[in-house]
Amino acid sequence: MARIIIAGSGFGGLTAAMKLKKHLDLSRHQITVIDQNAQFVYRPSLVLVAFGKATPESITFNLPEVYQQSGIQFIQASISSIDGDKKIVETSQGPVNYDKLIVALGEKLAYEEIPGLKEYGYNVCTMKSALSLKQALSQYQGGPVVVGWAQNVQTGGPAFEVALELSHYITHHHLTGTIQFIDPLPKLWAPAGPKASEFLAKVFATHHIKRQGPVQVRAVQKDRVILSNGEELPSVLTIITPPFRGEPAQQTLVANNARGWLDTEKDMQSIHYSDIYVVGSAVAFEGPKQGHTAMLQAEVAAYNIAQDLESATPKHREYDHEMSCVLDLGDGQGLFVRQSLWSKEHQVVRVGREWPLAKKALAFAFVRTPVFKKWALSIPQPK
Ligand SMILES: Cc1cc2nc3c(=O)[nH]c(=O)nc-3n(C[C@H](O)[C@H](O)[C@H](O)COP(=O)(O)OP(=O)(O)OC[C@H]3O[C@@H](n4cnc5c(N)ncnc54)[C@H](O)[C@@H]3O)c2cc1C
Repeated sequence: MARIIIAGSGFGGLTAAMKLKKHLDLSRHQITVIDQNAQFVYRPSLVLVAFGKATPESITFNLPEVYQQSGIQFIQASISSIDGDKKIVETSQGPVNYDKLIVALGEKLAYEEIPGLKEYGYNVCTMKSALSLKQALSQYQGGPVVVGWAQNVQTGGPAFEVALELSHYITHHHLTGTIQFIDPLPKLWAPAGPKASEFLAKVFATHHIKRQGPVQVRAVQKDRVILSNGEELPSVLTIITPPFRGEPAQQTLVANNARGWLDTEKDMQSIHYSDIYVVGSAVAFEGPKQGHTAMLQAEVAAYNIAQDLESATPKHREYDHEMSCVLDLGDGQGLFVRQSLWSKEHQVVRVGREWPLAKKALAFAFVRTPVFKKWALSIPQPK
């Protein structure tokens, strides 16, 4: 019998657990998931929570219940470190041994890298921060706003949606406000390709959202954002995604990566520890970190672990890096992008009213139905 531990139960960890359950006979192997939180938060809908269009309850579900129904053990505990040589995960509930480990700990929001960001900045990265922004919006009476993301962030989409939602909010509430958008990339939404980048730039122009980029953030103060080029942008409401770093709990497994991410091959197996696989934001891949990519990587890792355990001659599958997302443009329209990042396989850009509806349907299916949890179906992607 093999004991498989999954550290973290976000998009990557949950998908890995459910896919492993499909591949393995649970009377012969044990799957245990460890997460500090008992609630799964469907993060793509946090923008809606901040703007009062969804409730926290409508975008969360209870993890212990889901795992219990699936024959998977769940431990609610905080992980402090992982010993890859002794194969032990140290947790607030005591040490846990593993034969195979999947690290799916997501990212740490490194507020400390930008003075003032924690005190004066808002974001939509967690339920707590989305609710704080909701509160701040209720007090916003107009004036200059700065929206965007800081250096070393690898998830840009939410900031675009915030900027567009805010533009509608200002119009709807008859406020006078300006929105400046900041990001460090050479072009607006560069990873999505030129077509999506140009389309979004036009949408921003229509909404009078002025992009200041590429720029980095040096500091945030109560009434301004100070950029690395010395420029100061006045701001009465600052909404900036903080820099990402690897979770401190995985630091013991990091070799040379300056930002604390874990190196893997394309089969998601750690370069340094053959019994460890890594999925989701924890992985050291360049480019966007998404729920979508976390789920694709989790499928690959689960398949390969099953091969390692069940086959005399394991054949590993490989992950092909891509981004895929729908930007809700806030006026009933949506922009869908699916872009291969290592190959040229998928380069899809579509605009239409069906995309925000598809996004809502996916959120509902994920949170409220057994489609992804119990049945472990993969999310269908337009070609
Ligand atoms: C507002 C917003 C909108 C987004 N929209 C989209 C979208 O439309 N499409 C898309 O594909 N992606 C989207 N993303 C990105 C997506 O949410 C992330 O890329 C995804 O959550 C990463 O998955 P993960 O499993 O790697 O990490 P996470 O989902 O962050 O999960 C990590 C888990 O590990 C647990 N954990 C961390 N540290 C510890 C510890 N020390 N001990 C115990 N447990 C721990 C956490 O509690 C968490 O449950 C969005 C993100 C945000 C913030």
